[in-house]
Formats: sequence, C-alpha cells, structure tokens
Amino acid sequence: MCQQIAQGTRWGKCGHFQRHLVIAVLDCNTLRCERSCHHPPTCRSKTCATTFGKEIQRDVDFVDEYCFACRAAQAKAAGVPLR
Ligand SMILES: [Zn+2]
Ligand SMILES: [Zn+2]
Ligand SMILES: [Zn+2]
Repeated sequence: MCQQIAQGTRWGKCGHFQRHLVIAVLDCNTLRCERSCHHPPTCRSKTCATTFGKEIQRDVDFVDEYCFACRAAQAKAAGVPLR
C-alpha cells in the first residue's frame, strides 16, 4: 500500500497534525496496488489496494497550542459560542 508524505503543522498541546499539502507519494512497488505506478492499467482485479496507507507526517511547523478542532471542541464543551 502506498503512503502519502504530508507536510504540516504539529500542534504541541494535543499532538495533532494539521496537513498543509502532500509533497510526495511513497510507491510500494507492487502490482496489486492501484496507487502504484507498477499497477497495470488493464487490471480488473477487485482485490487490489485502492487506498493509501498510513500517512507519513513531516512537521515543518510547531505551535505549542491546541489545534483548531480541539479548541472548537473545548469551546463547545464550555458552552462558549465560537467567533
Ligand atoms: Zn501501493
Ligand atoms: Zn489491480
Ligand atoms: Zn488537536
């Protein structure tokens, strides 16, 4: 299964990764993966992998805070309307 290599921000307080962009795809070099450049275009197999494996995360930025999703969840839990 191929893996996407993504680059993004690491949020220090919750450890979440916020993807900015996918910079590369790591090819698994198998014929049984539709994402691989080795996969035959004529292949009709239903068993080939179609999805990417676990994303490889490259931190290019570090913020010692909670990510937007976590802050929104906290605000919601506290009953504070988001602005
Ligand atoms: Zn693959
Ligand atoms: Zn196939
Ligand atoms: Zn978070």
